[in-house]
Amino acid sequence: MSGISRDDIELLSGWFGALDGIGANDDGSVTRLGYSDEEDALIRTVADLAAERGFPHYADEAGNVFIHNGTGEGEYTLIGSHLDSVVQGGRFDGVAGVLGGLFVLSGIGESLPLKVGIFRMEESSSFGLATVGSSLATGRLSGEKLHNIKNSAGKTLHERITERGHSASPRKISAVKEYLELHIEQGRVLEAKGLSLGIVNSIAAPVRLRVTFTGRQDHSGATPMNLRSDALVGAAMLITDVERFALAELQNASVATVGVIQNAPNVFNVIPGETALGIDVRGIDLESRERVVLRISRRAEDIARERELDCSVNIVSKSDPVRMDAGLQKKLSACAAKLGVRYMIMPSGAGHDAMNFVDICPAGMLFIPCRDGISHNKREFAKIEDIITACKVLLEYLRS
Ligand SMILES: [Zn+2]
Repeated sequence: MSGISRDDIELLSGWFGALDGIGANDDGSVTRLGYSDEEDALIRTVADLAAERGFPHYADEAGNVFIHNGTGEGEYTLIGSHLDSVVQGGRFDGVAGVLGGLFVLSGIGESLPLKVGIFRMEESSSFGLATVGSSLATGRLSGEKLHNIKNSAGKTLHERITERGHSASPRKISAVKEYLELHIEQGRVLEAKGLSLGIVNSIAAPVRLRVTFTGRQDHSGATPMNLRSDALVGAAMLITDVERFALAELQNASVATVGVIQNAPNVFNVIPGETALGIDVRGIDLESRERVVLRISRRAEDIARERELDCSVNIVSKSDPVRMDAGLQKKLSACAAKLGVRYMIMPSGAGHDAMNFVDICPAGMLFIPCRDGISHNKREFAKIEDIITACKVLLEYLRS
């Protein structure tokens, strides 16, 4: 789109630059975990940048920070995201949404009630739980549950939050009229289509399956090929079918991944007696996702029968896709079209803070392309111009 000034680019680039060294690793990546000194430093720096432009901030009891324009206690629009990263992550995931939010706030000034939310610990790197700050703030997660969630060192998430001076049971956020989030796509779709904006219609949710094949653990030298009951070979057959079943649902945007193989005893000279697969199936179309899950389960049983193995299929977890507000999608689309921004409506394969707001207010998300679709990696990169384009669409929406 036209109308992006050199001043805008310099301003936003300067803000990214101010955060550059925080949590920086020698290999060029950053490690900025949730509820860490690095996350605190990022929040302080962004709050200082906001203060320079006359915007104050406050924190809720869980440590989520809200930058605002002092327009009173009534209903307000919230633009949110996060500043934390994965271990050895990149500088745009989450950060683009927070700095983009501050850019929009600068454009709006005091003309309408607007806040920028910085939510703690969006990434699941240290405690295995994602979108912690926004889940606590919206009441979707109870602080009590955090007593049972531990990191690899055995510390509970409850301890981590309280020892840093926050509470795991914050007051529930209120008066949010609508929630908006700008985020890098973390995929290759926009780049491949040459588009600078995606309007998210739905956030995919995973079903996680654990499929265990049990055969007979035998000597790998002394057991002839026709007398074996090899659990790993059965699992291997299923792995290629998992890919095939998801590929058949390409049109419906379902995906399936075998991310875990636990093979026992996993040594050179023993035929595997037990192999367990961890399978993640995601989609925004529940029927399509269910078809993939069903085909995987049936195929596992067929393989077990054919190869005389035992097999168990367990659903480890299951959550439903989250729909973004239809009215917001329409309005954001109209604003993009008005500005001459080429966009597409698209699903999000990854989870985001926006998921936690759908029960309390209309929620909408904008995606911007990231180079080669790479994310959670030091090579993660998004163009400042694309971030500004998405900000202009948000500004157009807020002013309309
Ligand atoms: Zn993110």
